[in-house]
Amino acid sequence: MVDIDYYEILEVDRNASFEEIKKAYRKLALKYHPDRNPGNKEAEEKFKLINEAYQVLSDEEKRALYDRYGKQGLENQGFSGFEHSSYDDIMDFFESVFGQAFGGGFGTHRSRRRQEKYPLDISLEIEISFEEALFGTQKEIEYSYKVPCEACSGTGAKGGRLSTCPECHGRGQIYYRQGFMTFSQTCPRCGGSGESATERCEECGGKGFATKRETIKINIPEGINSDNRIRVQARGNLSPSGLRGDLYIYVHVKEDDHFVRYNDDIYMEVPIFFTQAALGETITIPTPRGERELKLHPGTTDKEQFVFKGEGFKNINTGRYGDLIVQVKLIFPKKLTQQQRELLEKLQESFGVESKPHEERFSGIFEKVKKWFSHKD
Ligand SMILES: [Zn+2]
Ligand SMILES: [Zn+2]
Repeated sequence: MVDIDYYEILEVDRNASFEEIKKAYRKLALKYHPDRNPGNKEAEEKFKLINEAYQVLSDEEKRALYDRYGKQGLENQGFSGFEHSSYDDIMDFFESVFGQAFGGGFGTHRSRRRQEKYPLDISLEIEISFEEALFGTQKEIEYSYKVPCEACSGTGAKGGRLSTCPECHGRGQIYYRQGFMTFSQTCPRCGGSGESATERCEECGGKGFATKRETIKINIPEGINSDNRIRVQARGNLSPSGLRGDLYIYVHVKEDDHFVRYNDDIYMEVPIFFTQAALGETITIPTPRGERELKLHPGTTDKEQFVFKGEGFKNINTGRYGDLIVQVKLIFPKKLTQQQRELLEKLQESFGVESKPHEERFSGIFEKVKKWFSHKD
């Protein structure tokens, strides 16, 4: 499948500024607005794409992702585009951009959407371990979703019978005066739909829905990180019209006691006894991907880092692996036996000159500092 080109859709240059993008979006969105093209499927599709393109290109982070990895990159980050969104979602987006400025001209949508008694998308959070995030896993999730109440067809009215709202007389708006001004507001009784229940449905108590439980298996990809989300299509709430929303699963990765993730790299600290560091021994260490040989070199210092290439997390966008970074922590004995003390002293003596270098180094510094002061005189 060929990736769609958001720049082409908005008829702008690849390096268009935010202002240019917004201007282009405004022009096209108004031209293809469904209220101006009733019943025109082609215009509706175009309107969807224009909104989707703007949603990406107006957001610095999404735009950068799109420029680098295309639409696939965005999808891997949990961005879903609008292909499966409902008409209302798109209209909500459109209105969130233009606010009330166009409210007057596009009133039809408002009254249509208020009839939905509940949102169609659901989100939930799951917690996984560091190890599960590293290797990927499969999880079984039990959750509940809403289905329209059968007795009232999701209307909340007894027998599904709605009548003209007595509060607003079907207009969906109520008007009130303050001084010489008349103000309007969405009718609180019918929520703007103009229809209300004279009698509540006894089955659902007027809510319009029942809940169902469902268990699904989801694949959690290798390399997933906290705040990534997984979209499971058509597993959300069921609308009276038979459409099913999406289920969004937000992942939270638990912290590990030994390993820390930073970007796609894994950091771990390995305690090394000072003699092992001085001798440059090779030791076997446990890493998230199994045992590895850590080759120290003579004179390994505290906090020195050793890199195991490609042993980190898999990047869910690029597929590339990060590194494992092992940081050494030198351990010194807290207490010495008489024999150990003698051995260490002997060892120190054997280095002779080497045990004095700091004195010499310091004298150099003293000379330098003295010179600074002599300049001032
Ligand atoms: Zn009901
Ligand atoms: Zn009303």
